[in-house]
Amino acid sequence: MALQQTLVLVKPDGVARGLTGEVIKRFEQRGLKIVALKLVQVNMDHAKQHYTEDITERHGEKIRNQLIDYLTGGPVTAMIIEGVDAIENVRKIVGVTESKSAAPGTIRGDFTHVSYAHADSKEIPVRNVIHASADEKDAKHEMALWFSIDELCDYKRADESHVF
Ligand code: GDP
Ligand code: MG
Repeated sequence: MALQQTLVLVKPDGVARGLTGEVIKRFEQRGLKIVALKLVQVNMDHAKQHYTEDITERHGEKIRNQLIDYLTGGPVTAMIIEGVDAIENVRKIVGVTESKSAAPGTIRGDFTHVSYAHADSKEIPVRNVIHASADEKDAKHEMALWFSIDELCDYKRADESHVF
């Protein structure tokens, strides 16, 4: 069994649209556990450590700068979600990166719709409501960036007897 923890952010567009509760509900109803949660206004330095040089390698410097503006543009809801294969399970609930391609039933597919072509023409990142760590390496880096150890809560959910 791979019990994992992963970082989730409701990005500034999601917070401004009042979608934090909707996002949390989708993880909770799947049996995934919130072990840390807070609302944060991030600064440039923090955003640069979140969207690292890895983003430049994958998408270019221009998109990285757009992402840093996006993430610092308003408060973000940050949380750590725990569960069996949590990284993969959470990414599945989130949906694929391009809103236009995201399947209905996923968070991105239910609350956003625009294409890369549209966002690129406006020189903005695809505003896709949510971030979730991509793999174990990213999850480790991102959880340490957003939370200190003493912000994580150790507790049992009432329905855990159906999982473990
Ligand atoms: P994610 O892990 O699914 O969020 O995707 P990535 O880590 O590859 O990209 C980070 C974020 O950059 C995405 O969530 C989008 O907001 C944005 N983004 C990614 N690719 C593109 C693109 O081709 N065009 C634009 N405009 N934004 C993009
Ligand atoms: Mg990513």
